[in-house]
Amino acid sequence: MKNFYITTPIYYASGRLHIGSACTTCFCDSYARYKKQLGYDTRFLTGMDEHGQKVEIKAEEKGISPQEYVDILAERAKKLWKYLECREDYFVRTTDQNHIEQIQKVFEMMQENGDIYLGNYEGWYCVSCETFFTATEVGAEHVCPSCGKKVSIVSEESYFFRLSKYAKPLLDYIDSHPLFIQPESRKNEVISFIKQGLEDLSISRSSFSWGIPIKANPKHVVYVWLDALFNYLTSLGFLEDDKSLYDKYWLEGEVVHVVAKDILRFHAIFWPAFLMSINVPVNFTLFAHGWYLMMGDKMSKSKGNVIYPETLVKRYGLDSFRYYILRELPFSDDTVCTPEDYISRYNNDLVNDFGNLVSRTFSMADKYFQGHVEKEETDNPYLLDLKKTALETISLYHDYMKEFKVNKALQEINKLVSRTNKVIDETLPWTLFKEGQTKELKAVIYYLLEAIRIESVLYVPYLIETAPIIFAHLNTTKEEENLINLSFSNKNEYNVVKLEGPLFPRENDPDKAKEEIIKDMEYELSLGA
Ligand SMILES: [Zn+2]
Repeated sequence: MKNFYITTPIYYASGRLHIGSACTTCFCDSYARYKKQLGYDTRFLTGMDEHGQKVEIKAEEKGISPQEYVDILAERAKKLWKYLECREDYFVRTTDQNHIEQIQKVFEMMQENGDIYLGNYEGWYCVSCETFFTATEVGAEHVCPSCGKKVSIVSEESYFFRLSKYAKPLLDYIDSHPLFIQPESRKNEVISFIKQGLEDLSISRSSFSWGIPIKANPKHVVYVWLDALFNYLTSLGFLEDDKSLYDKYWLEGEVVHVVAKDILRFHAIFWPAFLMSINVPVNFTLFAHGWYLMMGDKMSKSKGNVIYPETLVKRYGLDSFRYYILRELPFSDDTVCTPEDYISRYNNDLVNDFGNLVSRTFSMADKYFQGHVEKEETDNPYLLDLKKTALETISLYHDYMKEFKVNKALQEINKLVSRTNKVIDETLPWTLFKEGQTKELKAVIYYLLEAIRIESVLYVPYLIETAPIIFAHLNTTKEEENLINLSFSNKNEYNVVKLEGPLFPRENDPDKAKEEIIKDMEYELSLGA
């Protein structure tokens, strides 16, 4: 069996998670489900990045200890992923004792390999991003190039990692592994950044204490990114006695790290350099997607344009949410989301196109054949074209999935759904019924059912509640719901049970719904999450 390991970034423990983080997590969950369909042994990791000055400050504001503060946030995050049916195999926390011990070992290994030295750091520091910036980056206004907040000069004794030493090895690695960083545009960004020259990286702090202490010099805590990035390995126990998970998923598996573009450099430069330093193979693919922009702006609590998953799931169901955010996945460019887009995609793709197709077809199977539809050969050009389109769709779907273009993969399913709907208009089953052309009618219904079965199998990772309902009404076997060897006409007969109600109830008043969603956005904001 082949192994597959997929990870989200571990989200920073600083507040409530919005649909930007939900996009990454749902992406990983759906992708793991897809790989499972293909017979992989999968491991899906998410978690929480719990150290750093920002956490220390927030906890103090709330009058609780940092540990109490991150405990609350970790529970909240777990609850949200459960609510969205994102089923991680492991939830890693950087305050876990086994993580802490392994990070301390990592630091010592880097030190033994001559990659760490003690020096003095002075620079422009953003507390929010926990990152130092150069004078050019902060400009005359002295603001953080990443979050826009004021930065200040910080000077402190610090350990440094010899990142400069890894510029050449990194470029060589990227060159010899063309699929390492995806999409291509992100790869080019990384290459040009490295070519500007890499400076050694400050990897400890002594100005605050909420972090992992360096054993040999405990007034220093490990820089939060060094601490955080290694979660992908500490959660596999790579420096513990039992290395079976590490062997299975890291050394012998396909590994994919999924991140948003703002943390590309940490994952494409620091992370592989850290691995090279301790002689762990850089055995992963990095997929960095774009941002969700709400009403044309990056989502941010201070801008008041944050939308939370619960608002949308409550109104239109979990499937609509998972479908929407992946159908609109900001693959390389950013995606602008609005409540009206959400509603129209829901009404168009799920209610009108797919939901309606399934309802109509099941009703016809019931009405014309009491649900019992045997396989019927045909030379009807419309039906043959539907079959051809379905087979092409399956192959295109896999091609796009290989490139992480889940949005395009979903578009291909949509096209097949449209083609299937069109067959009903082209073949006019009710006329065939009236004219008593039973053989022809049976072929039409059989072909429609086959198309619906194929669409449902492809939708399994996204419409996680609806696909099983359709299978139950189609009375399919596990074998017929299998993505491997999925093909047209490989089911001999159908025993269909018609649906009691619509799969996706229509939103009849989009204007009112839009207003209510916007009001909810503001309401959530006023809670001060
Ligand atoms: Zn910042």
